[in-house]
Amino acid sequence: MKPAAFQYERPRDEAEVLDLLAEHGDEAKILAGGQSLVPMMNFRLARPAVIIDIGAVPGLGEISRKEETVAIGTRVRHIELERPPFNGPLSSLLATAARHVGHIPIRLRGTFGGSIAHADPAAEWCLLARTLDADVTVASTRGERVIAASDLFQSAFITSIADDELLTEVRLPWLSSDWKAGFSEFSRRAGDFAVVAVTSAVRLADGHVAEARIGAVGVGAIPVRLAQAEAALVGQPLGPVAINAASDVAGQEVDPRADIHGSADYRRDLVRALIRRALS
Ligand SMILES: Cc1cc2nc3c(=O)[nH]c(=O)nc-3n(C[C@H](O)[C@H](O)[C@H](O)COP(=O)(O)OP(=O)(O)OC[C@H]3O[C@@H](n4cnc5c(N)ncnc54)[C@H](O)[C@@H]3O)c2cc1C
Repeated sequence: MKPAAFQYERPRDEAEVLDLLAEHGDEAKILAGGQSLVPMMNFRLARPAVIIDIGAVPGLGEISRKEETVAIGTRVRHIELERPPFNGPLSSLLATAARHVGHIPIRLRGTFGGSIAHADPAAEWCLLARTLDADVTVASTRGERVIAASDLFQSAFITSIADDELLTEVRLPWLSSDWKAGFSEFSRRAGDFAVVAVTSAVRLADGHVAEARIGAVGVGAIPVRLAQAEAALVGQPLGPVAINAASDVAGQEVDPRADIHGSADYRRDLVRALIRRALS
């Protein structure tokens, strides 16, 4: 399988990327790890006239703690997040989620920012970004802006990033040691995209849940936050009673569609079971 003909550009800095995006607009596509774009081009599902390879652009591949956030540069590879350069609940959460992203060869090339920009409805990084309320920084020749994850994902594979914008960095909130984070996923085979994946983060104070974040993918076109399940946890001691109650609420709160992988009820059951595991 071969892609349709395209013009290949390999800019040496971010300014050059932005100039190329401004010049070519929706005719152009950024090439990051190529793990989604290249298969789509080979199947002729995408036919960009211009490919802008950001592989040689310096400064987009760092992970750093910035105030109360962790900033992940767009070119950070999935595999790097299996061992984040910091400790704590966010580190464990990233490491667990990273191991569910495809297989090792995909994790060696695919990028964090590429996954967010691609917005696959089952992507682990989109799930974490939405559940933790990430801030996504994008740049263009018009300037820089920050998009809240809640405004980013519009539909399957559609985001609010404009055609002339480059995603540069994603900031996740720092989770201090009073947070407990969990992740659980079901896929048909190891390395496959999730049928359903969930994540949770709860802040404990005096043994009770002071704040809760629960999210899921595989139950719609975009990642969802489960506000009712979160509300069911807050104020409760984090034990089996509260966990079972919140998981049941989550199963009722989602509104999945049936597809070749299972019925809507099956997905509701998965949400229930996976959230129970993540919280436990
Ligand atoms: C067999 C297989 C299994 C996989 N399993 C999973 C899985 O379980 N979970 C999962 O999440 N993913 C999975 N993937 C996809 C993989 O994670 C990709 O790496 C990821 O979706 C896209 O990242 P990338 O760097 O490869 O981006 P690319 O493929 O290079 O780009 C993807 C899209 O994002 C755009 N883009 C990339 N970077 C930017 C940027 N900085 N600014 C603006 N737009 C940008 C591109 O133009 C393109 O439209 C799988 C892929 C394969 C081939």
